Amino acid sequence: MKVIKLANPRGFCAGVDRAIDIVSLALEKYGAPIYVRHEVVHNRKVVEDLKKKGAIFVKELSEIPEDGITVFSAHGVAEKVELDANERKLKYFDATCPLVSKVHKEVIRYAVAGKDIVMIGHKNHPEVEGTLGRFPNGSDGKMYLVENVEQAKNVVINQPKNLFLVTQTTLSVSDTKEIIFELKKRFPAMQEPNSEDICYATQNRQDAVKQLALETQLILVVGSENSSNSNRLKELAEKSGSKSYLIDDPDQISGDMLENVSSLGITAGASAPEELVQSIVQKCTDFGYSNEEELDGLEENIYFKLPSELR
Ligand code: SF4
Repeated sequence: MKVIKLANPRGFCAGVDRAIDIVSLALEKYGAPIYVRHEVVHNRKVVEDLKKKGAIFVKELSEIPEDGITVFSAHGVAEKVELDANERKLKYFDATCPLVSKVHKEVIRYAVAGKDIVMIGHKNHPEVEGTLGRFPNGSDGKMYLVENVEQAKNVVINQPKNLFLVTQTTLSVSDTKEIIFELKKRFPAMQEPNSEDICYATQNRQDAVKQLALETQLILVVGSENSSNSNRLKELAEKSGSKSYLIDDPDQISGDMLENVSSLGITAGASAPEELVQSIVQKCTDFGYSNEEELDGLEENIYFKLPSELR
């Protein structure tokens, strides 16, 4: 018998829900078009659906006309983007996830206190660009990006005894631990945030995929290629001994992929809609899978408030 097991929790987190709601409600209130700086969340289907409703995705504010209603993506933006929007008197809604905003506040607070800050994250990811861009000009300290253990072993810090650590919210929990271990060996005075920057949704989905890997031979991670947390789920599934593919369209599933797989696991990154997961489950039934079972997992009851103007 060929069975499907579903990870729990999986898919949308509270920050993604909020960001999509902000674009949808802005479209309802002001009508199309609504300009969104960067993909509001990293998922192809979400972006295509919002485009159909009248959202226009742009890379830079300069592409937005003077009266364009604007939304900043869930990944957050550098201070300069906000200042530019204010200078141009653009009306904008900030869909930055509150858990990313928490990291921005940490950067500002410790930079103002004159500390150096080291950030663990992936270069060029929009969240990292936004967080690095929160380090205030004119501060006495400096901000450094560290992407891996190798860089943690070599980074040269101006103020090793006056150093604070932040991380991207969607990293691999275990990889980050190894990097922090190296940094602490070299900079024992390094101060860490009171509560971890890696967010609850990332942690819970990684715990769930590890459990899924114990019970399945192959794991399909529903998520787009540019989704950081989805890529981490795929890596973790592989490290846990399962084969794994990242897919964001049912048509990407092939018979070759599923050859000799009797227990198939499915999970989804924090930006992947459940509707897409279900269409992938449906496609798998065409290959003879049945007995869909949802694993036990943590219930998430987190909700982030919408901007008052859109409530
Ligand atoms: S993955 Fe985490 S930080 Fe990113 S939007 Fe979701 S809750 Fe916020």
